[in-house]
Amino acid sequence: MNNNKYAILIIDDSRLNILALSKILSADYSLFAAKSGAEGIAIATKNRPDLVLLDLMMPEMDGYEVFRRLQLNPETRDIPVIFVTSSPEQDNEEAALLMGAADYIIKPFSEGVIKARVRTQLKIIGAMREISRLTTIDGLTGIANRRGLNERLELEWARGLRECQPFSVLILDIDDFKLYNDTYGHQQGDLLLMTLAQIFAVSVTHRKTDFAARYGGEEFCVILPNTELIPAKMIAERIRLRVEATQVPSITDSLTLTGATVSIGVACTIPGNVETFDEVILEADKNLYTAKKAGKNCIRASFVEKLNN
Ligand code: GH3
Ligand code: MG
Ligand code: MG
Repeated sequence: MNNNKYAILIIDDSRLNILALSKILSADYSLFAAKSGAEGIAIATKNRPDLVLLDLMMPEMDGYEVFRRLQLNPETRDIPVIFVTSSPEQDNEEAALLMGAADYIIKPFSEGVIKARVRTQLKIIGAMREISRLTTIDGLTGIANRRGLNERLELEWARGLRECQPFSVLILDIDDFKLYNDTYGHQQGDLLLMTLAQIFAVSVTHRKTDFAARYGGEEFCVILPNTELIPAKMIAERIRLRVEATQVPSITDSLTLTGATVSIGVACTIPGNVETFDEVILEADKNLYTAKKAGKNCIRASFVEKLNN
C-alpha cells in the first residue's frame, strides 16, 4: 500500500455497493471497507482515514447515527464524511448537509461524479491541513505552539481514555531566564529558546505519540501518552541533563559560552482518574513550582490518583 495515498473508508451494508465504490476509487486511494456502522466506527477510530463514504440507510445503526458518533469522538470528528444514499428526497439531503456532512451523493452515481467529488473533498482536506500546520507552529522555535499542543492533547487524551493507558505530562521552565535576557540581550534569549526547543523535540522522537510544544514565553510542555510516571521522570531527567550540558555561543562574542538550566514538573495519571487533561497539567505545574522552590535545575513528579468523592 502506498503510504502517500489518501485513505478512504467506505461504510455500506451492501457488498455490491462496496465493490462498486472500490472499483472506482482503488486505483487512486487506499481503501478500508466496513459492512456495518459499528464496524465503520471502529475502523475510523483505529485507522483514521482521510475521508469516509457513508451509506445512509443501513440496518441496526443508520448513517446519521454513525455520523453523530464520529462527530462526538475527538479522534474522528475532523474526518469529512460524504453521505451516499439512494434516497432522492430533498429533506434528507438538507438534513445531512446541515448536520455537517461534507457532501451528499445520490445513487445511482456515475463513476465521474464519485471521483470528482472525492477529489474535491481531498483538496479541501489538504488545504485545511496546511492551514492547521501553519497556525499550530510556534514562529520562533518551529515546534508546536499552545494551539498545536491542545489539539494533540485532546486526541491523545481521548485515546488514553479509550485504551485505559497511563498519560504523562512534563512542564519545563527555563531557570532565571529573565536574568539571561538581561545579561546577554533579548536576541540571545531567542537563540537559547530555539536551541532548547530543539533539545526538547529531539528528546521525545523515540515514540510517534510523544510531543513537545512551546507552552508560552519560556515555558514548554511535553506530553507522553501511554507512559508511566517512572519512565516519564527518566525522560525529564535526560532532558534536564542535556540542557545543563548545552552551551550556546554568544551572538555578539562567539568566545563567550552561555547556558541555562530548566526545572521540570512531571505528572502522570490514568485518564478517567480525573475529568480532563487540565488537571494533569495543573499537577505538573504545581510540581514545577515545587522544583523552583527547591532550588531550580531539578525535577518534581507525582501521580494523580482517582479522587473518591
Ligand atoms: P524562574 O527561574 O523562576 O523561572 O525565573 P525566570 O526569570 O525564568 O522567570 P520570569 O517569569 O521572571 O521571566 C521570564 C522571562 O522570559 C521574562 C521574559 O522577558 C522572557 N521571555 C518570554 N518570552 C520570551 C521570548 O520569546 N524571547 C525572549 N528572549 N525572552 C522571552
Ligand atoms: Mg523561568
Ligand atoms: Mg516563567
